[in-house]
Amino acid sequence: KLAHFPTVKELAGFDFEAQPSIDPKQIRDLAASRWIANGENVLLLGPPGVGKTHLSIALGREAILAGYTVQFTTATTLVAGLAKAHGERRLDEKLLALAKPKLLIIDELGYLPLEPDAAHLFFQLVSRRYETGAMLITSNRSVAEWGTVFADPVVATAILDRLLHHSHVLTIRGDSYRLRAKRKSGLIK
Ligand code: ADP
Ligand code: MG
Repeated sequence: KLAHFPTVKELAGFDFEAQPSIDPKQIRDLAASRWIANGENVLLLGPPGVGKTHLSIALGREAILAGYTVQFTTATTLVAGLAKAHGERRLDEKLLALAKPKLLIIDELGYLPLEPDAAHLFFQLVSRRYETGAMLITSNRSVAEWGTVFADPVVATAILDRLLHHSHVLTIRGDSYRLRAKRKSGLIK
């Protein structure tokens, strides 16, 4: 039950040599899932195609193997669900449900800027899970840009304050892995 991974990805299938900005030891450490037991957070930041979703699914899979409940969602789906619940006066129920999985993975935060109302709903979720449930968030935006993502620097600061308190921030650099094969074959530069 739960999870909802969009595809199957494993750590074994991740090519660390292709991604020198990631420390394999740090990923292996996170794969042991202690951070989940401790209710800590992981932020995977970086441009498109560098393996953020791959690693988030792979770490989620390790968490399940370690016996934790995991829910995978995208920021867009999550915020739409919160807004809908809010409109139907069952936000508390929704927040309670989202607080249940031991690990909540939120993929692709920042691709679309959030409306102020949505940012505030996101803040409520982060507050609810703070120090009790682990979160893994992927974003194409650096933490410094989250004020723009949340349309409100005050809300962004409050969210980051809680998220970063007990956290592991991994910033991935480099070119898209998706374009690598094409580049190698000379299809693109
Ligand atoms: P992001 O979420 O950062 O945009 P993805 O995780 O979706 O990137 O990666 C894009 C594609 O490239 C996926 O199919 C993923 O499995 C693959 N990929 C990315 N980085 C690596 C890597 N270092 N080793 C193996 N596959 C990779
Ligand atoms: Mg992705």
